[in-house]
Amino acid sequence: MQNRKTNQLFNFDKFPNFEKDIDLKQRAWIEVKGEAIETNVRQLRSKLSKNCQFMAVVKADGYGHDAKLVSEYAIKGGASQLGVATLNEGIKLRSSGVKKPILILGNLYTKRDLIICFKNNLMPTISSIRECLICNNIGKQFGLKFLLHLKVDTGMSRLGFEYSKFVQQFEKIKSLENILIEGIYSHLSSADEDNALDPKSITQLQRLKFNEILKQINFDRNNEIKIHLANSAGMLINKDFHFHMVRVGLSMYGYSPLDKIDKNLSLKPALFLKAKVAFIRTIDPGVGVSYGGKFVSHRKTNLAVLSIGYADGVPRNLSGKINVIHNDKLYPQVGSITMDQMMVDITGSSEIKVGSTMVLLGSDGDKTISPLEWARKSNTIPWEILCSFKNRLPRVQVD
Ligand SMILES: *Cc1c(COP(=O)(O)O)cnc(C)c1O
Repeated sequence: MQNRKTNQLFNFDKFPNFEKDIDLKQRAWIEVKGEAIETNVRQLRSKLSKNCQFMAVVKADGYGHDAKLVSEYAIKGGASQLGVATLNEGIKLRSSGVKKPILILGNLYTKRDLIICFKNNLMPTISSIRECLICNNIGKQFGLKFLLHLKVDTGMSRLGFEYSKFVQQFEKIKSLENILIEGIYSHLSSADEDNALDPKSITQLQRLKFNEILKQINFDRNNEIKIHLANSAGMLINKDFHFHMVRVGLSMYGYSPLDKIDKNLSLKPALFLKAKVAFIRTIDPGVGVSYGGKFVSHRKTNLAVLSIGYADGVPRNLSGKINVIHNDKLYPQVGSITMDQMMVDITGSSEIKVGSTMVLLGSDGDKTISPLEWARKSNTIPWEILCSFKNRLPRVQVD
């Protein structure tokens, strides 16, 4: 009898070839409801004026949901443009067959990158004359016009032309023959804060500054250039923020960025995070659980070892602070969350078995756990929770 040595080739023909059908739900995965994205987009669009366009922001792999899938359903729901952060995100969408206009929200500053952008029919965000000139050059080289969006900084202090210089610089930009200004935009820094309706808030001030710029460049509302300012929170404040287009991320995925202003929305979360129970054990009272033994059982305890950990994107600082759902019931996670696994106290349940699926985010029956709750408990924002999920988690579409 030979041993099964790793460096030896064997003929395994008598075993079924399981590997060819990889089980996406083998340990932990994300389920995405495309239809929820579609309904959210429709619902959000119903708050816009008829001619206001909806840009679906699908950066960071569609906030962790899978950019291709999100784009497809957002377009079904009526999104007419897509927003990504990077050149590669844009290229990937193009190669997966997305035809709608795509704006790169991050900055490209080398001629090489801008050529790639142009060739892939992506629009860059332009924050300086220097970048404009490069684009104009590229357009000239190809004998075409390079479509782009100009960004003006109204208070975010990130990308965008300097506010006080834009009007003067715009005169020069207008004269460039091989670029086509498709849009002019700015970005709100504080629209998700409670005071956004207060006339003296940063948000309202940014809107006034943006309007002032449009006035100073004699912007004609009927011309072809798209004006846009609002992110999710901005669009939910009121129509004054809508202009020709809104750029929506978070709320399209089913979460309101605003605690106070609800606007009668019933957004549907599109993401479900699930994991399988890989092992079950019973420990005596007084026994420590996980690294550091920080959790000690005070009774005979049944533990489920769940196949998901911080290497999948569950923040470690949620250790001992979250519940997971199984068939309508909540079970507390105990002990430190480890890289690949976490323990759950399932004492009293006879339903949970090795191979059972538990829900970490999303709903099961009448129980729901939201990324907003995780964000609050781990002292961060829902955006960060959503885009922390790693590639190790397969994204599975369910509808
Ligand atoms: C990410 C992003 C958005 C979308 O923001 P949400 O708050 O998720 O709606 C809009 N505009 C820009 C420039 C962004 O970077």
